[in-house]
Amino acid sequence: MTKILSLQNIQKAYKTKAETLNVLKGIDLDINQSEVVGIIGASGSGKSTLLHVAGLLDMADSGDVCINGQKVEFKSNDQVTKLRGQNIGFIYQFHHLLGEFTAIENVAMPAMIAGKSRTEALEKAEPLLKQFDIYKRKDHYPSQMSGGEQQRLAIARAFMNDPSIIIADEPTGNLDESLAHEVFEYLLNAAKLKKTACLIATHDMQLVKKMTVVYNLEKGKLSKVTVK
Ligand code: ADP
Ligand code: MG
Repeated sequence: MTKILSLQNIQKAYKTKAETLNVLKGIDLDINQSEVVGIIGASGSGKSTLLHVAGLLDMADSGDVCINGQKVEFKSNDQVTKLRGQNIGFIYQFHHLLGEFTAIENVAMPAMIAGKSRTEALEKAEPLLKQFDIYKRKDHYPSQMSGGEQQRLAIARAFMNDPSIIIADEPTGNLDESLAHEVFEYLLNAAKLKKTACLIATHDMQLVKKMTVVYNLEKGKLSKVTVK
């Protein structure tokens, strides 16, 4: 199996004047191609911190992050930015869409940022909009779309640069239950079709049932959870 993401003995603390908060205390995690890995854990347990480190948005205090077998050298900003742009798609709880751009422009944006021409990027965005059933809304602005459509749009955007892994922090956390499940199916189907690995933090124990493997983050460590 192709190893997409590997975290090795990741430690991270937040230091404030008053205290040091050890959030990650030695995290080891391997994610292979097509695997959907869930992270559960109480609020404040460090799920977002872990996802930020895994997604190269933040640096660990110690330990290694490898993407597609390549060790990330955090000292090189250029390498980090390039690895992130080429390999990782992000989905957040709140969609973070750009309000002044249309649906199709939002989806096309990561490709334009990566250097593709506008025409080429828009062309590549079309099938994604179709796949997420929002093609009809392609020229609408995010504010004109429903919550479920907005989140599907945000997910479509995450797939734009054909990432090897999608990192999602409570991707359906602001939707009601049935809508959350519907949106989540779109994410899973797209990931399956494209063989994209996923690392997903969630509170939703129903969603967790659909994942390959689930870990609980507690006291800075991961432990495997058996989901019934
Ligand atoms: P979760 O996503 O599981 O709710 P977080 O990773 O957001 O947890 O936070 C883990 C802990 O680290 C929390 O106690 C939070 O208050 C703290 N924390 C998060 N970010 C910072 C920061 N930038 N500075 C100081 N403490 C932080
Ligand atoms: Mg969080």
